[in-house]
Amino acid sequence: MPALLITGGSRGIGRATALLAAQRGWSVAVNYRADAAAAQSTIAAIESRGGRALALQGEVSSEGDVVRMFEAAQAALGPLTGVVVNAGVVGPPQTLAEMSAERLKRMFDVNVLGAYLCAREAARRLSRSRGGQGGAIVLVSSIAARLGSPFEYVDYAGSKAALDTLTVGLAKELGGEGVRVNAVRPGLIDTEIHASGGQPDRAQRLGSATPMGRPGQPEEVAEAILWLLSEASSYATGAVLDIGGGR
Ligand code: NAP
Repeated sequence: MPALLITGGSRGIGRATALLAAQRGWSVAVNYRADAAAAQSTIAAIESRGGRALALQGEVSSEGDVVRMFEAAQAALGPLTGVVVNAGVVGPPQTLAEMSAERLKRMFDVNVLGAYLCAREAARRLSRSRGGQGGAIVLVSSIAARLGSPFEYVDYAGSKAALDTLTVGLAKELGGEGVRVNAVRPGLIDTEIHASGGQPDRAQRLGSATPMGRPGQPEEVAEAILWLLSEASSYATGAVLDIGGGR
């Protein structure tokens, strides 16, 4: 059974990806930060359908946590051949002029440093020259990276732009290592992330003004991630795929 690790796999897009991956035959390590009950519910949903999954607490911006998480995943599930770098946060709507240094630091710690540490660990473990089996890394960026998110969160938008650039560079570094690196850029997806930024109705409110007239569902992003993890996308690397309903 191929083994996959998903950061922030307990809720939202990560959870939908974990469920779909398990259905497609992956064993899944589900990382989360704080909500153990949500992680356990995702594990239970996978196991009740005959799948194999493991919950791993860890803060992605902590190097020690990230290394421990990858070690625990491989100890339990065997060598990883897929990693989804998905964990991310938003803040309440503010202009840059209003943002505190603490807010900016947390945004870049979690969304940039955290993603880079997880991608680094994936590169170390999947690369053939380092004893890995090759495989695929998928980074979860955002359409915010090209919209800029003015008056809401230019910090978040910039943090996601960093992931687009990482995708391009890391794909080139790992092209000869049997590891493909791609990103998805979701648009407005109906998850709890909007409530965490103080705008619980954001996906519904703004989704209706998009070309498709609705927000996306996490399962619609998961389908794209699973395609990028699969051999069906065998010649795609360094690609950044918008899943944004035309936004
Ligand atoms: P969500 O519903 O808020 O879920 C976030 C997940 O990440 C949870 O599993 C959470 O675990 C985990 N997490 C948060 N901070 C973490 C940290 N520091 N260390 C480890 N895990 C952490 O979010 P989502 O909407 O599914 O978003 C997933 C990704 O898609 C994010 O990178 C987000 O930026 C991106 N995205 C989302 C949208 C959208 O509209 N929803 C659009 C574009 C891009 P706990 O619950 O334990 O904290």
